[in-house]
Amino acid sequence: MADNQELDLICPACGKTMKKVLIPNAGINIDICLDGCGGIFFDNRELNKFDEPHENADEILKMLEGREFQKVDESEVRKCPLCHIPMVKMGSGIGGVQIDVCNKCGAKFLDNGELLKIREGGEVDTAKTDALVNSLYQENLRSVLGENADKARSSSPRRQFFENLVNKFYDIGGDKGLAEGINKIKKH
Ligand SMILES: [Zn+2]
Ligand SMILES: [Zn+2]
Repeated sequence: MADNQELDLICPACGKTMKKVLIPNAGINIDICLDGCGGIFFDNRELNKFDEPHENADEILKMLEGREFQKVDESEVRKCPLCHIPMVKMGSGIGGVQIDVCNKCGAKFLDNGELLKIREGGEVDTAKTDALVNSLYQENLRSVLGENADKARSSSPRRQFFENLVNKFYDIGGDKGLAEGINKIKKH
């Protein structure tokens, strides 16, 4: 991978010159748009060194802390500052973050705040995603079925799952089984 240490990069989001920030513990330079939008540009595999919560991204995050950054349109197509070809939007699957990836050199551009979101992504976001899917599902049912939504919802896969669970409980003895189980514990 060709090193771009000598080259000042132009921010693909706002067009300002990005600043090189040396990350000593990783031994690499990261390009950060400190005078513009706060975006971060990672060479080929650089992002992999910072995207997990246990990895140290303090130096990067410290640079961004408390600064005001220019707002940019995150849906706009960005061009890789190294290859000058359009980057592709890719969902990281975490926290609904969309990053720009260059298919040629593998570089990635993160908008301000996205690194934090990726690092924080985990169980919390899974729960959030689940809630979102669920609400969209309900929403969808309501709009498709109108007044019959309640009826339809009672046979939704989720509902069936819980109903099966309850039925299973009663199949294996229900209240009676539970009472016996408690008595057994009490005797010990
Ligand atoms: Zn920028
Ligand atoms: Zn590229």
